[in-house]
Amino acid sequence: MRSVEEHQHIVGELIRPRAAAAVPTAAALGLVLAEDVVAAISLPGFDNSAMDGFAVLDTDIAAAGDATPVTLPVVDDIPAGRTDTRPLQPGTAQRIMTGAPLPAGATTVVPVEGTDADFTTTATQVAIRRATVAGQHIRRAGEDVAAGTAVLRTGQLLTPAALGLVAALGLDRVSTLPRLRVLVMSTGSELVAPGAALEPGQIYESNAVMLSAAVREAGAEAITAPMVRDDPAAFRAALDEHAADADLIITTGGVSAGAYEVVKDALGGQVEFTKVAMQPGMPQGCGRVGDVPIVTLPGNPVSALVSFEVFVRPPLRAAMGLFPDRPRVRATLTEGLTSPRGKRQFRRGVLAGTTVTSYGPPASHHLRWLASANCLLDIPADVDQLAAGAQLDVWDLSGC
Ligand code: AMP
Ligand code: MG
Repeated sequence: MRSVEEHQHIVGELIRPRAAAAVPTAAALGLVLAEDVVAAISLPGFDNSAMDGFAVLDTDIAAAGDATPVTLPVVDDIPAGRTDTRPLQPGTAQRIMTGAPLPAGATTVVPVEGTDADFTTTATQVAIRRATVAGQHIRRAGEDVAAGTAVLRTGQLLTPAALGLVAALGLDRVSTLPRLRVLVMSTGSELVAPGAALEPGQIYESNAVMLSAAVREAGAEAITAPMVRDDPAAFRAALDEHAADADLIITTGGVSAGAYEVVKDALGGQVEFTKVAMQPGMPQGCGRVGDVPIVTLPGNPVSALVSFEVFVRPPLRAAMGLFPDRPRVRATLTEGLTSPRGKRQFRRGVLAGTTVTSYGPPASHHLRWLASANCLLDIPADVDQLAAGAQLDVWDLSGC
């Protein structure tokens, strides 16, 4: 049997990034930069006021105080957005708002609170009661970003704040590593779409919605194909119809040791089917269909999702420049458990701080427990028993 680590490596080699592409800044949240962002302009772009108040010469108001107000004529008014300011003449003041361009010659701004001004009216003069010093309440051009600076680096994640900076620099597009497009196909003649009526012996299809969601949660784009019955010709036809646009194909079902193993039967020559020393998720396969990598996951829902977490999610995220692994926590087990020797076991669990409790039976069809678990217990292949209080590695599924 192949080890988990070996199969991870083989799948990892198959999944490759797409070529970098420019995308609208507004659509780039969660993507990773494919090139540095170099500021073409400075921020602020011009000297401007940090307060609502009056632009003056500091030497004109050096003697101002509560007992010694300095009265100056107010000769102009500068709201934010004004583009035609006039130079400040000595012995005068210009009313100015936060973010408005400082008039040439002004050396300081006196906030409205330091004057007797009432901003609900426009007065022709102002009594200044506070002596602000040269440079005070002025935001200088370039003090945040000097033009020519690389402000964001290749490989950096575009967070809301990073996108804000990109927009502030005037860029409406950014070069990013695109999301991979992942085709999700489920197989099984017993499957019926949720919402339809079940005949005896049929079950509702659940892997496609689950794995498509997992693909999206990983930051990629999911294309969900209609499910396919256990007929190799129908499976091939569905692949031909849907695979062309995909960067990766994930199938579920039809890869174990029974008869009617549709994925195995259809892809025998192209895809390597194997057993991995893991529970759940022993039957696995991967390869290429044409140029497109394919990972064939087992059909049991818990096996399918755990296999996605272990084999697909990390290289999928890596190919988009994202941190591949879920956060790992070294946690203390609240109660003892057993595990099959020779297989790396991923039990579902509930992690609370640094204590962890196994949740539900190990069998691979118990989806209910996985649905309310928040972690996977990673039990090494050479361990068959863990006592309460034992330390083990836990994958935190609530983290990216
Ligand atoms: P298979 O790997 O095709 O032998 O399927 C293993 C088990 O998983 C069987 O009980 C299937 O009915 C079940 N199964 C396979 N695919 C799905 C699916 N898409 N949704 C729900 N159950 C599935
Ligand atoms: Mg099947």
